[in-house]
Amino acid sequence: MPRIAIAGFQHETNAYSPVLTGLAEFEMADSWPGLLTGRAVIEETRGMNLPIAGFAQAAGGVADLVPILWCAAEPAGFVTDAAFDEIAGRIVEGVRRAGALDGIYLDLHGAMITQSDEDGEGALLERLRGLVGPDLPIAVSLDLHANVSERMVALADVMTIYRTYPHLDMANTGARAWGRLAACLDAGRPAKAFRRAGFAVPLQAQHTGADPARRLYRDLPDAPGALVELALGFTACETPCRFPSVVAYAASLGAADRLADAAFAALLAADGAFDRQLLPAEAGVAEALAWQGARPVILADVQDNPGAGGSSDTTGLLRALVAAGARGALLGLMHDPDVAAAAHLAGVGAAFEGALGGRSGVAGDRPFEGRFRVEALSDGLCRYTGEMYGGGVGMLGPSAVVSLPGSGADIRVVVTSIRNQCLDLAQFTMFGLDPAGARIVCVKSTAHFRADFAPIAGRIIPVAAPGLFPCML
Ligand SMILES: [Zn+2]
Repeated sequence: MPRIAIAGFQHETNAYSPVLTGLAEFEMADSWPGLLTGRAVIEETRGMNLPIAGFAQAAGGVADLVPILWCAAEPAGFVTDAAFDEIAGRIVEGVRRAGALDGIYLDLHGAMITQSDEDGEGALLERLRGLVGPDLPIAVSLDLHANVSERMVALADVMTIYRTYPHLDMANTGARAWGRLAACLDAGRPAKAFRRAGFAVPLQAQHTGADPARRLYRDLPDAPGALVELALGFTACETPCRFPSVVAYAASLGAADRLADAAFAALLAADGAFDRQLLPAEAGVAEALAWQGARPVILADVQDNPGAGGSSDTTGLLRALVAAGARGALLGLMHDPDVAAAAHLAGVGAAFEGALGGRSGVAGDRPFEGRFRVEALSDGLCRYTGEMYGGGVGMLGPSAVVSLPGSGADIRVVVTSIRNQCLDLAQFTMFGLDPAGARIVCVKSTAHFRADFAPIAGRIIPVAAPGLFPCML
């Protein structure tokens, strides 16, 4: 059996966030496990919708896997050099200690920026190549929002990239990486071709439930000897790598070029077809209040998505709801450990004066001051029921539902102590709230919420309120 070292180091870096990402953020569990080492990399991710889990399942029994380390931190600002050196150093050291290997698999995001390198994945690959040399096959899986660099393409023998957004195929993408690494071992490395567009696509326009993203991914060829992968890019940085890119692998350079050219032509032709529209929060709320359908309107607060490095605590959409006197509205997830703690101190049914959120420093935002009534409390352990988290358990930290008595609006806000993206109905139902029965559901998410919330939605409206993740490009 081939002997394969496997490791994962995921971060999607928002260069506009002032919040640095340190080692503690990689060690901490949120909606994904905290930092794992050794056998726990396989055992603690088994069955999850994660690339490394899909790789391990596909390769299990046919490869001798040497698990080294896996970690992911919630998207935020630059990864500190200290954290990068520590984690990359442990991966390289693990590979060194593994001894004779036939290949390496890395579960990476593809949009990591460190304090001193705008291409974190390229830097990691460079360190690994420095140890193992140019000949050992390395396979990498990447997020659909990867900002693929020439260095990554050059240093990895094959890369696979998610084809869905919401990312429902993370495990499948890991499994595909195993198939491609096995093909490298059997038949040698493929030739590769790389193309990058000259325009950016905002994330709310990238979701694959609609064209053109749906069509672009559906039409990618994937056959033995012909693999084409497409990344749509992560836009919260200024590097040229933020634009969409295509990488193709085939037996010959000519064949790889032809595959890349065909997919790239389709990408360029789609530029004008991406739906980049965003309403101001007030206009979105007005549309929601005018909605006559039986199902709720989902307002997506796309610029405050913590899954894109937002603080998940801006108050623009909440203010718009209150100003309009909205009734039957839910909002999640507001990250505010102080208000969550105050709610736990006060107890269910009690009310307290406070200031909610608004601490990100983003222009135009400020804390929402007022009186809050505690409607529900939780330790924050969330058993996910939606497809994306695949039945995993997330940590929201001590959490609460608060209402705003005296505001004239009927709104329930889910407040958490750990930053997590609002993308699973369980993040409301765990408190006894019923999103399907609400009139308006506000989610701090760009597109991942669609997997679980679209089936209950009468209408989905992305809105632009202040946030650290610019979506009006
Ligand atoms: Zn992504």
